[in-house]
Amino acid sequence: MIQQVIKKINCPHCNEENEVILWEKVNVDMNPDLKEKLFTETINNMKCKSCNYLSRIDIPLYYNDTKRKFFIYLVPDFPIDKNEEDKLLSNLKTETLNILDNGYDNKKRAVFEYYNLLEKILIFDAELDDRVVEGCKILARTQLKLMEGRAAFAGTENDEITFNFFEKEAKEATKLFSVPKAMYDEIATIIREKDNEPADEFKNIDVKYAVRMFMN
Ligand SMILES: [Zn+2]
Repeated sequence: MIQQVIKKINCPHCNEENEVILWEKVNVDMNPDLKEKLFTETINNMKCKSCNYLSRIDIPLYYNDTKRKFFIYLVPDFPIDKNEEDKLLSNLKTETLNILDNGYDNKKRAVFEYYNLLEKILIFDAELDDRVVEGCKILARTQLKLMEGRAAFAGTENDEITFNFFEKEAKEATKLFSVPKAMYDEIATIIREKDNEPADEFKNIDVKYAVRMFMN
C-alpha cells in the first residue's frame, strides 16, 4: 500500500513552489513513529527551500491501527453539510470494504479537525468507546455549565475519566474535569440500548451524536 504522496505546494510565506512528500496513510503498526509525529504535529510539515518557513500541510489522512482495529479518516476543512457528510461516510465504507474486517465495527470514524483525530486515537488506545465518552462529556458539561468551547478526552486515572476543557477559541486547556468510571459504565448501558445505527458504517461521533442519543 502506498502511504505517501508527492505534492507541489506554494509556501504560505513567500509563495515559492515546493515539492513535498506527504503522508496520506498512517498504518501505526507498520510505522509506529508516525503516531508520535502526529501528536507532536511534526507530520506533513514543509520547510520552504527558499525562505525556510515551516508550515503544516493539512491533507486528508487515514489512521489505521490494525492491532486494536480502529480506523479514523481525517478530512480537514470539510464543508458542514449533512448530505456531503453522508456521501463521504458511505464512500469510505465502500473504499475500505476489502481492508477492514468486522473487528473494526463501531470503530470506523471520520473526523474533520486535527485535534479530533488525536482525541479519537487516545480514546481507542485506552480501549474506551468514543460514543460513551461523548455521552459522558455532554452530561458533565451540562452539569458544570461548560457549554461554550470544547472538551477533549485526556486520559483515565484512578477510576476517573478526565477531560480537558478549552474555552471558546482557546488553544490551551483552561479547565479540567472528570467523570467516575461508574458513570461511564451506566452511559455504556444506555448507548447499547439506544444506538440502533449499523456498526459497520463510518460515523462522525461528536456532540451531535450524544445529543441524538440523549434527547430521543
Ligand atoms: Zn517560502
